[in-house]
Amino acid sequence: MSIKLEHVNYIYSEGTAYEKHALKDICLEIPHGQFVGIIGHTGSGKSTLIQHFNGLIKATDGVLYYNGENIYADGYKMKELRNQVGLVFQYPEHQLFEVDVMKDVCFGPKNQGLSDEECEVRAREALQLVGLKEKYYDRSPFDLSGGQKRRAAIAGVLAMRPKVLVLDEPTAGLDPKGRDEILDQIAYLHKQSDMTVILVSHSMEDIAKYVDRIIVMNQGQVMYDDIPKR
Ligand code: ATP
Ligand code: MG
Repeated sequence: MSIKLEHVNYIYSEGTAYEKHALKDICLEIPHGQFVGIIGHTGSGKSTLIQHFNGLIKATDGVLYYNGENIYADGYKMKELRNQVGLVFQYPEHQLFEVDVMKDVCFGPKNQGLSDEECEVRAREALQLVGLKEKYYDRSPFDLSGGQKRRAAIAGVLAMRPKVLVLDEPTAGLDPKGRDEILDQIAYLHKQSDMTVILVSHSMEDIAKYVDRIIVMNQGQVMYDDIPKR
């Protein structure tokens, strides 16, 4: 699925004392199947930008297109879009809410209409990919360590087999080995499928070898957009 942002602006708490113009006139085209890295200082707008990709937040101004279709148009099937776009939040707690890890990872595929058996097959496959051991599957996600929560949250999105995978600092808090394992798996899945991947990171170094393109955000704007210097 190709993505296009046309003059996207986003203002938090518009009209209040806390107003913040977090995205300023973003124009971007992401072709189908591209692996894009987004970096930038804290507060530069990375998380705000990527939450637009599954319609979680709506541009204050401007348009977002998927395959040429305006997702803000009346009648656009946002639920279908959400079933195809997997978003891993910066803070994994934001997407773990079921009684156990298995149920959490099954949540996405279940919404896609898969049977319980199919959901479990998908979930086990995804949990293995992210390296979370079987003994955690029936535990409450709240009892996991930070790194384990992150793995569970990533598995939940991978189990959807999304056409577009959006990850907000998915390896924050993991040790270098864990970080490389997860990124290697995502790169492998990207090669295997024709999935578009959008990966937010704090560090150019961590992601340069994986991505086709680097976007650098600065104060709500795109400051640099090119192939990475390796
Ligand atoms: P980080 O690297 O720390 O995750 P980021 O690049 O993801 O930062 P955003 O979270 O997109 O940055 O924030 C962009 C700007 O919008 C920041 O100035 C931030 O303070 C502001 N902001 C973010 N969320 C809100 C909110 N809910 N209400 C008001 N302002 C917000
Ligand atoms: Mg962020």
